[in-house]
Amino acid sequence: MTDRRAELAENLTEVEERVAAACRAAGRAREEVKLIAVTKTFPASDVALLAELGVTDVGENRDQEAGPKAAEVPGLRWHMVGRLQRNKARSVAGWAHEVQSVDSARLADSLAKAVHTLRYSGKREEALDVLIQVSLDDDPGRGGCPLAELDALAEHLEQAEDLRLRGLMAVAPLGADPAAAFERLARAGEALRKDHPNAAEVSAGMSHDLEQAITHGSTCVRVGTALLGGRGLASP
Ligand SMILES: *Cc1c(COP(=O)(O)O)cnc(C)c1O
Repeated sequence: MTDRRAELAENLTEVEERVAAACRAAGRAREEVKLIAVTKTFPASDVALLAELGVTDVGENRDQEAGPKAAEVPGLRWHMVGRLQRNKARSVAGWAHEVQSVDSARLADSLAKAVHTLRYSGKREEALDVLIQVSLDDDPGRGGCPLAELDALAEHLEQAEDLRLRGLMAVAPLGADPAAAFERLARAGEALRKDHPNAAEVSAGMSHDLEQAITHGSTCVRVGTALLGGRGLASP
C-alpha cells in the first residue's frame, strides 16, 4: 500500500464513521445519505485510489479540471458542484452525470441544449440529472436561486426533456448557523416535492458541517478536505 492510499483509506474510514454516527443520531438509515468525494485540485491518481477504496461518486467544481480527470478514471458518477458559466455547458455535458449547481433558467437551457446535441449524435445516452442550487442567504454574489424563484425554475426544468430534476443543493452561508440554513433548505425541499415527487435529493453538508446537514435531512454530503486533506490558501 502506498502512503497516499493508506492516508485516503484512513480519512475515508473516519468520514464514513462520522456519516454513520450522524445517521444513527438522527434515526436515519445510512443508505439515505450518499457520500460525494469532492476531489477538486487533487490529481486523478487520488480519484483512482478513492475508487479502489469503494468511493462511487465524485464532485468537481471546474470544468477544465474535471473533464480530463473523468476521462482518466472511468466507472464513477461525476457531479458538477461549482458555479457554472453557460459557455461551459457543452463541455460539462460531456463528462457530468449530474449538475448540482443549476440556478437559472438560462443555464438550464444551455445544459439542455448541450445534452440534447450529445444524445442526438450518440455521444451521450442518459439525460442529465440536475439539482437546483438554492441561495440561503440571498447574496447574489455567491450564486444560487433565491427561494422566491424556486417554483418557477423547477417548473422550467420539468419542461426540459434532456434534464431530470432530482432535488436541491445548497452551501451553508458563511458566518451563520448552518443548522438554521439546512432547516430552511429542508422545508424548501418538502414544498418542492409536493409538485415534483422525484425531486427528493437534498445535497447539503461539507467537511465541517456534515453532521448538522444529516440531522436536517441531507441525502447527499459533499466532502473534500476531510477526505483528501487541505487545498491550501490559493485554492477554491
Ligand atoms: C469544495 C466544495 C465542497 C467540499 O468542501 P470541503 O469543505 O472541502 O469538504 C462541497 N461543496 C462545494 C460546492 C464545494 O465547492
